[in-house]
Amino acid sequence: MTQPTLNFGDHKGESQRVAVLLPLPLKGPLDYHLPDDMPEPQPGTLVRVPLSGRSAIGVVWPKNEAGQGKILPIEKLKPVETVLALPPFAEDLMRFVDWVAAYTLSSQGAVLRMCLSVPAALGDVPVKTHYVLAGMPEALRITTARQAVLDAASADNPQTAPQLAEKAGVSAGVVQGLAKIGALSPIDISVDSSFAPPDFSIEGPSLSTEQAQASAKIRDQVMQGGFKPFLLDGITGSGKTEVYFEGLIEALKEEGAQVLVLVPEIALTSQWLKRFEARFGTTPVVWHSDIGMAARRRAWRAVATGDARVVVGARSALFLPFKRLSFITVDEEHDPSFKQEEGVLYHARDMAIVRAKLADCPIVLASATPSLETLVNADDGKYEKLLLRERFGTAVLPAMKAVDLRVDAPPAGSWLSPALVTAMNETIAAGEQVMLFLNRRGYAPLTLCRTCGHRIECPNCTAWLVEHRFRKELQCHQCGYMRPSPAACPECKTEDSLVACGPGVERLFEEVSSQFADARIAVMTSDTMTNPRSTAQMVEQIASGHLDIVIGTQIVTKGYHFPNLTLVGVVDADLGLRGGDLRAGERTYQQLVQVAGRAGRAEKPGTVYLQTYEPEHPVVQALLTGDGDAFMAAERGARARHTMPPFGQLASLILSGPDLAAVMEQGRMLAANAPAVNGASFMGPAPAPLARVRGLHRMRMLVHSNTRTGLQRVVGPWVRQTKSVKGVKIKIDIDPHSFL
Ligand code: ADP
Ligand code: ZN
Repeated sequence: MTQPTLNFGDHKGESQRVAVLLPLPLKGPLDYHLPDDMPEPQPGTLVRVPLSGRSAIGVVWPKNEAGQGKILPIEKLKPVETVLALPPFAEDLMRFVDWVAAYTLSSQGAVLRMCLSVPAALGDVPVKTHYVLAGMPEALRITTARQAVLDAASADNPQTAPQLAEKAGVSAGVVQGLAKIGALSPIDISVDSSFAPPDFSIEGPSLSTEQAQASAKIRDQVMQGGFKPFLLDGITGSGKTEVYFEGLIEALKEEGAQVLVLVPEIALTSQWLKRFEARFGTTPVVWHSDIGMAARRRAWRAVATGDARVVVGARSALFLPFKRLSFITVDEEHDPSFKQEEGVLYHARDMAIVRAKLADCPIVLASATPSLETLVNADDGKYEKLLLRERFGTAVLPAMKAVDLRVDAPPAGSWLSPALVTAMNETIAAGEQVMLFLNRRGYAPLTLCRTCGHRIECPNCTAWLVEHRFRKELQCHQCGYMRPSPAACPECKTEDSLVACGPGVERLFEEVSSQFADARIAVMTSDTMTNPRSTAQMVEQIASGHLDIVIGTQIVTKGYHFPNLTLVGVVDADLGLRGGDLRAGERTYQQLVQVAGRAGRAEKPGTVYLQTYEPEHPVVQALLTGDGDAFMAAERGARARHTMPPFGQLASLILSGPDLAAVMEQGRMLAANAPAVNGASFMGPAPAPLARVRGLHRMRMLVHSNTRTGLQRVVGPWVRQTKSVKGVKIKIDIDPHSFL
């Protein structure tokens, strides 16, 4: 009897096969083999692997039972190079990546890339040499300078050479000399200092009855643990922040627990952070697009190691590698900036709910003007609603007045009605402050030639160039293209024939400056608030009463608390309603409530003037009567009748490319290949309202479904099974918010 042949090729068992997900738009994880001397890494481990001649960092992914198509024999696989010295991704984070990818019809790798967004955090952290006292070498020649350094140094408090030199009043060379002869020993310390833990001994404010009731509900759930969404629906100034702070603190009491507060980027202000510090005795980890590379690395690593207990960030903070996420708050949950419009198209509020579900923790959505989606979820019993109906203390909601511009018209070439100007004069005379809101950057949205009618357009986009008179430039707000303001019409060459059409904040500044010659005026836009320091300075000036009139875009609407601000003027209440999409009414209502919410936040009551050509419009009426519930109920009815979200679902496709014919061809092919699905309808292709951006032609298609969820199952296979035209990019937007 012969022995069965031993198959030496098979000695590497399947246990040495690992799936590694790379932060690249591939179909799924790739298989690698584990070298014999490498212990099997648990899923979530960060590893370096070879990839087409280079090396890349990826994450060991749970084995996919369904398989990725072709399975390579283990001998053909490349080996894992190294295991990174970082804590492995938590299981709930990996499931989150898979979930977001499936929901948004993106590749897992594209989602993983958002989790690995800081390459510098994956490598070694730079170190700085510090010194401590060592034993005295025998041949030490003591000089006064050396003695001063030895006195300044200590055995257990490492200090850098410049620190020691400064303390001792000598040059850094003396410190180095002492290190050389062994009187001081060097220690390398990471440049990333750790984050101080929150201080629980700080007493919070005593809460009002309704605040206490809401916070008790949240705290109870935190103590009990487990997934549960709350809607904290409270008017502006009602103390929502204080209420969710209580939830944070309760969650943080558990050792190792981490909490996340998502805020719209522009709410991350110095004022908010000061308030946080006062309550927690420490700075949170701040995460948004404006923090520098070093801060980003420090933050990412601190979240990964669990050193960071509290993270406050814009939408992308959702993809940070929390070790143990225990509580989430989404503040201003209705805010449009939570929708990411580039790369992986996701809505951070919606994904935060999923993140909380997978992490099995409570989540609070807070807003004075909750989105319709969230209100419906609350009414359906999916979220528990907590109401705050009163402003804190003696503050009351501002009085709202409409100015009918058809009757009370501003003089030609001006934008402020006589009624508003009178109110401004009275406010300033009383020593109080005014805020004017106009959501338009620059001087004028359109520049036109009086002689030939030419309108100055962006060469790359379907967009007018916006005049920025402070900078003497015309700028495209789509692609950033800039050119100097011309003296003559670019078309007919007539000199001095160009006129500015419509108002922007700079033009309003001009008008206000001439009308209120003695007033101290500031313009707050992303053009003037270019960095956190200048922003903080301006905010401080307003808060301390050094300015009388603030003119701003939506950047001023969020998070600020100016106690002496009593008059808000909305220069064009109809602006957001024009060109209306599905949510135009809802969004305008929310934005104007937020702006109005800046007025009268302290003892002095506030007034809001809404300049409008349509005082009877439901949005304006809702603001005037304060009956937001009725307005949202009407919106809800209209959406339900048309099975629009959240009662139905939408997905949009944006086709773009340099060649219009190819883009159109792709559209035709998609339309021809649209499946017949009950309850789903396919619209388009049609040129997008922004038909050209950055030189690319754009067409749109829209898919509507009568059911609330599951449109991915129609759209995914449809797009995958349609032949793609070369040079055309197809972007799928599930639950679109922008229709441009
Ligand atoms: P919201 O987020 O609902 O607009 P805030 O949390 O910003 O409201 O509260 C508005 C103002 O009232 C803030 O200055 C806040 O510090 C103050 N405030 C709210 N609740 C209390 C309280 N219980 N005790 C003291 N001050 C409070
Ligand atoms: Zn442009």
